[in-house]
Amino acid sequence: MQLESMYQEIILDHYRNPHHKGLREPFASQVHHVNPTCGDEVTMRVDLDGDVISDISYESQGCSISQASASVLTDLLIGKNVEQARAVQETFLQLMQSRGEGHEFAEEHEEVLEDAVAFAGVAQYPARVKCALLSWMAWKDATAQALAVQDETDKDRVKA
Ligand code: ZN
Repeated sequence: MQLESMYQEIILDHYRNPHHKGLREPFASQVHHVNPTCGDEVTMRVDLDGDVISDISYESQGCSISQASASVLTDLLIGKNVEQARAVQETFLQLMQSRGEGHEFAEEHEEVLEDAVAFAGVAQYPARVKCALLSWMAWKDATAQALAVQDETDKDRVKA
């Protein structure tokens, strides 16, 4: 099978059978992000246990790329600590900015990216890059907010 059709198969598989979909409790933060150029929307919740990402849940609508990307994200980031997850996010961002070099980059970083290598071909299409990045930007935002809430709680504990 050609690499590109194998990648398409991975994306379609996540689109048809999304992992970790649905909004769950408890959660530390919730964000809503939209990609107006395509009409994709995601509501995402992040929960933290110390610095470990204990859950990421979401509701989304939009194109197959945006939806599959959210599914892949949850597979990759749930259970990691914030630092590890940010490293994965950064690698995915680099993949999306790789333009014509997507396949080479994906191959080099396959261990980190896992199913996210399937988005290598998307990097060539700037309009689609926004679809692929939507949930990753939402996750980054939600995690920053969850950490801020945690900081406040810690300060209150010190005061008490
Ligand atoms: Zn889209």
